[in-house]
Amino acid sequence: MTSPTGPAPDRRPRLTRGDLDALPSYVPGRSPADLARELGLPEAIKLASNEVPYGPLPGVVEAVAAAVAGAHRYPDMGVIALRDTLAERYGVSADRIATGCGSVALAEHLVRATCLPGDEVVYSWRSFEAYPIITATSGATSVRVRNDAGHGHDLAAMAAAVTDRTRLILVCNPNNPTGTSVRRAELDRFLAGVPDDVLVVLDEAYREFVTDAEVPDGLEAYGDRPNVVVLRTLSKAWGLAGLRIGFLVGPPEVAGTIRKIVTPFSTSLAAQAGALAALAQADEVHRRCALVVAERDRVTEALRKLLPAGVTVPASQANFVWLPLGDRAVPFGRACEARGVIVRPFAGEGVRVTIGTPAENDAFLAAAESAI
Ligand SMILES: *Cc1c(COP(=O)(O)O)cnc(C)c1O
Repeated sequence: MTSPTGPAPDRRPRLTRGDLDALPSYVPGRSPADLARELGLPEAIKLASNEVPYGPLPGVVEAVAAAVAGAHRYPDMGVIALRDTLAERYGVSADRIATGCGSVALAEHLVRATCLPGDEVVYSWRSFEAYPIITATSGATSVRVRNDAGHGHDLAAMAAAVTDRTRLILVCNPNNPTGTSVRRAELDRFLAGVPDDVLVVLDEAYREFVTDAEVPDGLEAYGDRPNVVVLRTLSKAWGLAGLRIGFLVGPPEVAGTIRKIVTPFSTSLAAQAGALAALAQADEVHRRCALVVAERDRVTEALRKLLPAGVTVPASQANFVWLPLGDRAVPFGRACEARGVIVRPFAGEGVRVTIGTPAENDAFLAAAESAI
């Protein structure tokens, strides 16, 4: 068949790289408004994207509204005020900080800054679904190391996977989506064995929810290492997911390179203003994180009683829990959705459930009980 308006689709010349076709797309949590409409409910509950449920921090909306009065001007490309504030808060110099349009963008820039086509990026799997995408866009090769039996990073196997093509290693701590974390002694040992020309990125998107004293704060423990970069985000504990703002702390040369290659002005005016206002609310962030942590522990315990024998919910240090349901993941997710609760199934592997308010968590537990 030929189309009257152009050549047949299969004759069209290829305009984008063929190797990207096989790449799985990032799956965003589905919209609660859509689900509520579909089910005829007043509202649905979204526990699928690891946001904190308590709204923007006090002062953020006002600060962003005031800033956007100047929206016809470009923002500060150097992000000076925000980098200075972060530097003070985290006790590092501002030349070691780069900001970006979410920490995912910074992770992608780090791959671009370290890898040529064919170079290797090592990471644990299952881990953050963005990693294969940001690796492939540079033409780099993903080297996935299977999670250990407890659903966490197998650091010894990751170290063994390093070759002379390895340029970057991603350590997701705590790990999304399994909630597991690596502890100080094993991370010390791992870092000591990594060649000094390989960059290790500690993705600490969930650091603020960590309560296990054995899980190291990457900035405190390894912040001054010459081949370590720590990624942090304001999307989770700091409540700014919609504004897209994250930052990295690393060696000055690495941070400087990232500031050079970042898409110009990608830390928007609203993101800079919102982040400054949020960072002034550290006490409130601590209070909210404590609520989330208490609920995380309650939900974990309830699930362990609820789930069939053989399904063990790993201890989570993040603001979500992982249900390793294997082939039952997708049907479980569908059953929760039918009861108005959106969770995040990973087909054939498990289901990630974000910790919400106590009422939301109760709704999830009720849905989980009838789903099982
Ligand atoms: C949510 C998340 C991020 C943060 O992404 P942003 O782009 O900053 O919103 C980074 N890493 C992991 C592992 C995450 O789960």
